Amino acid sequence: MKVAGSECLDYVVDEAVQILGGMGYSAESNVERGYRDSRINRIFEGTNEINRMLTVDMILRRAMKGELDLMGPAMKVASELMSIPETPEVEEGVLSNEYVALEGFKKSILLVAGAAVQKLMQTMAKEQEVLMNIADIAIWTYQAESLLLRVDKIIQKQGAEAAAVQIAICKTYFYDVADKIAKAAKDAINSFAEGDESRMMMMGIKRFTKTEAFNPKEARQLIAQHLIEAGHYNL
Ligand SMILES: Cc1cc2nc3c(=O)[nH]c(=O)nc-3n(C[C@H](O)[C@H](O)[C@H](O)COP(=O)(O)OP(=O)(O)OC[C@H]3O[C@@H](n4cnc5c(N)ncnc54)[C@H](O)[C@@H]3O)c2cc1C
Repeated sequence: MKVAGSECLDYVVDEAVQILGGMGYSAESNVERGYRDSRINRIFEGTNEINRMLTVDMILRRAMKGELDLMGPAMKVASELMSIPETPEVEEGVLSNEYVALEGFKKSILLVAGAAVQKLMQTMAKEQEVLMNIADIAIWTYQAESLLLRVDKIIQKQGAEAAAVQIAICKTYFYDVADKIAKAAKDAINSFAEGDESRMMMMGIKRFTKTEAFNPKEARQLIAQHLIEAGHYNL
């Protein structure tokens, strides 16, 4: 939450400066202060680099102590790669593609983390780049799930039509993050596997991060139009 929140804030204030151009950079504007004030969040309360590594390290420690079954589900995902792909069973609805994608994102974490633990064993804690890749996939997946559940709740309360903007946000996020997860997984796999083993895992990641056809331009314009009309953040 801390890593994602602080990096999202930095992105937002950076864009705010950019939108105001030269005035945004000037100390006369409020966004210049926002830009400076935001930056510390990636440093204090544990730098984001250390927090990323801790996230994975803590999970691995719990797995090694037998408090968390990581390898069981990881082996299941690895064996799924050898069989005919199954489509997860999800309820039909406006967000069913996203529920399927979420399952794939979770499988990506298990595939990469499980294989990394097996390959790297005791040196895993020192493989910082791989830990960072796994942390990123976990952070993005957590955000994806939180967003999906929240938007689904809004749909159940208000109906899909009233939730069109939130649905567009959710679908845009999944569309974007699927490729980011694929890249982080690819980076990790290439760091510890090669040959057939690597190819098999890459195929799995491709399958687990597949997205359906979606028009990001239309979705982004819908979100922007809604915010421009409101004149403030009002979701
Ligand atoms: C305005 C402000 C307020 C603060 N308030 C408090 C407070 O109230 N209480 C408190 O206890 N502390 C406070 N701090 C201290 C803050 O928690 C530390 O600055 C922070 O933990 C980073 O430590 P450091 O500055 O020694 O940086 P370093 O540990 O030297 O880190 C420098 C850089 O190296 C990276 N790095 C370090 N080790 C590794 C590694 N193993 N692998 C990869 N990258 C690494 C870091 O991520 C960082 O990018 C505050 C700091 C500031 C600037």
